[in-house]
Amino acid sequence: MTMGVNDGTVIGSELLLDHGSPIDRWNLTLVSEGYTEQELPNFRLHSLEFVTLLLATPPFAGPSAAINVYRLDVASSQSGADDPAPCGTGATADTFFDARFCANGLDRRVLVVDTTLALNTVYAELPWSHAILVIVNSPLSGGTGGGVATTTLHPKGMATGLHELGHSAFGLADEYDYASTCNESGRDFHPAVEPAAANVTVNSSFSTLKWGHLVDPSTPMPTSTRDDCSVCEGPGLSPTTPGTVGAYTGGNHYHCGVFRGEYDCKMRAHGEPFCAVCQERINAALFPFFP
Ligand SMILES: [Zn+2]
Repeated sequence: MTMGVNDGTVIGSELLLDHGSPIDRWNLTLVSEGYTEQELPNFRLHSLEFVTLLLATPPFAGPSAAINVYRLDVASSQSGADDPAPCGTGATADTFFDARFCANGLDRRVLVVDTTLALNTVYAELPWSHAILVIVNSPLSGGTGGGVATTTLHPKGMATGLHELGHSAFGLADEYDYASTCNESGRDFHPAVEPAAANVTVNSSFSTLKWGHLVDPSTPMPTSTRDDCSVCEGPGLSPTTPGTVGAYTGGNHYHCGVFRGEYDCKMRAHGEPFCAVCQERINAALFPFFP
């Protein structure tokens, strides 16, 4: 059963990273989901682990004085998350925010919570929160970056949390070229409409590229092309020196007709650093909160 708010208790909050009044700072709140009250000490450790990774991940150390991080302890009646068919085992857990994998019915990694309940619960305790990351007490891989970001305790879960915050806190798009699966139809060519996200574009012309100021004029444009637009790009090798900003084909869930700024980025593969384009966007969003 998945009964939500009756399946647990809000215990309280703590300030983990203190750079001054929350009125002046960008406030990130980490929330527990699927931890029983007895397991909450683990969440406290996982939260510290996330803050350590955040501050070690460029560009966050630079504007770190703009950032406060809070922890909101919410106990659930049971451990884990729902893992429904057709992707999962069918296991269920009575948890406060109703976390469940396979939310789109296709991909187990699509992990969601009751977003409205999460927002209301956080704002009741920490109304100044700008961004929310729900850490779900499950070893499975999963996450999403909607109104609240979600992640898990999978070995790459903390990095996934940063990727999902890229979506929910900074409006960044996925830079990978697949949707739910690599075989999904209609993903060969991106619609000829400029995406709102700062890190993907349908325009690879150097003079009008939205991150053109980051590109060396000697860099070929587009910087990478695809021989076959009907398939996903494999985890191939970069055609340029890592860190070279240009216009690389593929991204925003399409194989062709769309470009990203570097060959790799945390918005493409969770273990990679954020590319220069994404870092610039994050810095710009945090700048108003800098002392
Ligand atoms: Zn990027």
